[in-house]
Amino acid sequence: MDFSYAGLDEARHTDMPIDIKSYSPEELTEYIESLGEKRFRASQIYKWLHQSFVLSFHDMTNIPGKLRERLIRECYIAGVKPVQVMESKIDGTRKYLFELRDGNVIESVLMRYHHGNSVCISTQVGCRMGCKFCASTLDGLERNLTPSEMLDEIYRIQKDTGERVSNIVLMGSGEPLDNYDNVVKFIRLISDDRGLNISQRNITLSTCGLVPRIKSLADNGFQITLAISLHASDDETRRELMPVAKVYSIGEILNACTYYFDKTGRRLTFEYSLVAGVNDREEEAERLGGLLKELNCHVNLIPVNPIKERNFKQSVRRDIEKFKNCLEKYGINVTIRREMGRDIQGACGQLRRSYKEEKNIKANDENKKEGDY
Ligand code: SAH
Repeated sequence: MDFSYAGLDEARHTDMPIDIKSYSPEELTEYIESLGEKRFRASQIYKWLHQSFVLSFHDMTNIPGKLRERLIRECYIAGVKPVQVMESKIDGTRKYLFELRDGNVIESVLMRYHHGNSVCISTQVGCRMGCKFCASTLDGLERNLTPSEMLDEIYRIQKDTGERVSNIVLMGSGEPLDNYDNVVKFIRLISDDRGLNISQRNITLSTCGLVPRIKSLADNGFQITLAISLHASDDETRRELMPVAKVYSIGEILNACTYYFDKTGRRLTFEYSLVAGVNDREEEAERLGGLLKELNCHVNLIPVNPIKERNFKQSVRRDIEKFKNCLEKYGINVTIRREMGRDIQGACGQLRRSYKEEKNIKANDENKKEGDY
């Protein structure tokens, strides 16, 4: 079965089931009217999907049976199924491992802050950007997530906890701007007042710096916060850490950032993962300060979270503080990222990896057993 998102036209001309939860209210209305039904049915269905979070057409109790049958024949409701949930005893952070319809698994994280609940979602299964310190990219990209799957990461968590989600960060597995159309659609749907109605100002999209897409995003007129994973103050070091730096230079990224700020008025965030002996020296902090001082921005320093597949080490606390102080000399607002859920799993993508590894070991054991007979 193909799990790519079937647009309205596409679905009309093929046998692909319609991904009804990815439809905008307007597309849903058009579809429902094309079935010879009244428009208000579309609003009712939209509410079931995006306010009640139902996963079955049978639960849409105010929809006539005949229409429900038709929907069952032509559409599917994308959902993510929790297969593992871990809660931190330290700060209440919850990590979810969700299974998709095709058996792939993804990670999402709920972080509880005093200003509200924030969910970190994945935007792709795996990733093809190849950043050296990141666990999500080790096996490459499996596929893009649909808008409906991204929505359901949030819907499931809200339903599971019974607590309202007020902030979203697109910082889980995947490169959001490498799945541009679906991510843009997701942002429209999640911020729509007929659905969960999360303010765009409470949504942060993190990118490794796909310059043309940053510009497109700026032209879209969204009010979201853009976070750039910079991780280096010169192109050479950046190229060593992030293959994408071979395509776009830091200069080009910063120009795109200025464009984004001019268009949206939104302050930018720069993420900088500190790796001992690689990008954490004082001269690097000085150079970074020089690069960013004219921009309206915030820098988030992230002590690198070591993954077992690579040999990266966290900078010592003293060096992190020094780095921070140096940037502050340039008048830059700096925070050191507080580690959430330290006791439940390490870096982004690691929970999924250990789950996959465990499954493989089990599958191998099963095979061995069969061989014994
Ligand atoms: N692809 C996007 C979003 C996903 S990663 C991006 O590159 O921004 C979210 C952030 O976590 C990025 O800044 C990424 O570089 C960082 N990150 C990934 N693995 C990490 C690790 N092991 N330690 C510290 N930061 C990491």
